Amino acid sequence: MPDTTRLSVRNIRKSFGHHEVLRGISLEARDGDVISVLGPSGSGKSTFLRCINLLEMPDDGEVLVDGELIRMMKSGAHSRPASQKQVDHIRAELGMVFQSFNLWSHMTILQNVIEGPVHVLKRPRAECVEEAQALLKKVGIADKANAYPAHLSGGQQQRAAIARALAMKPKVMLFDEPTSALDPELVGEVLRVMRALAEEGMTMLVVTHEMGFARNVSNRVVFMRDGLVDSSGTPHEMFGEGASPSFRQFIGHFAGGN
Ligand code: ADP
Ligand code: MG
Repeated sequence: MPDTTRLSVRNIRKSFGHHEVLRGISLEARDGDVISVLGPSGSGKSTFLRCINLLEMPDDGEVLVDGELIRMMKSGAHSRPASQKQVDHIRAELGMVFQSFNLWSHMTILQNVIEGPVHVLKRPRAECVEEAQALLKKVGIADKANAYPAHLSGGQQQRAAIARALAMKPKVMLFDEPTSALDPELVGEVLRVMRALAEEGMTMLVVTHEMGFARNVSNRVVFMRDGLVDSSGTPHEMFGEGASPSFRQFIGHFAGGN
């Protein structure tokens, strides 16, 4: 049987000074998995995502993307990637969407979307433009191709950021609270795009506080607390009777929400 593991994270540890933020986190995503990562503020969720795409260097542990181990070198208490070339190649396989959109403000939406495929993947520009237009249509902002980010609403900017990530044809999409910076009335349009991606079979790791998404769209829920995986399971398990007391307490804060 072919190995369909797209992302494998093993025993990641990360400290900032004396503060151990990740204390040995492991997670596997198979093809088409949509994993919601939930947890209180400060539990290490962003650091975890940043360690996966090496925006932060884990002190210890392993990350494999589509079966390829990111090679690390120890230097004292810390480690660093053994090959920058491999890091660039792995990063291109991981689409990242941030809370704050992070579009390039001096470029139009279309330019934002084709930047990676043209300059990193060195693909023909005309082909990239055509694909970018299709992606913008898919996320519902085809008419914004020539606009600058500042002229878009937050929801439109986040959908553009998703299109930009997809333009690299990533193997896994990482989302860090993609709707947390949005006005409430704009959250739905972004969640709809994410749901459509999930239904197409994209492998996704989503840090979110949207309990509706975690329950109804993801097939697995991971609850992080104090730099560790407290518990994980299917939404049915996690939101059902058998959930860990700390997870129950956590979701209690969201009761009455979506
Ligand atoms: P979450 O995303 O779950 O809210 P974070 O991963 O952002 O948590 O942060 C976890 C902890 O790590 C917090 O205490 C935060 O202050 C600390 N932290 C995160 N990034 C850094 C950094 N670059 N330097 C020092 N401390 C950091
Ligand atoms: Mg965070």
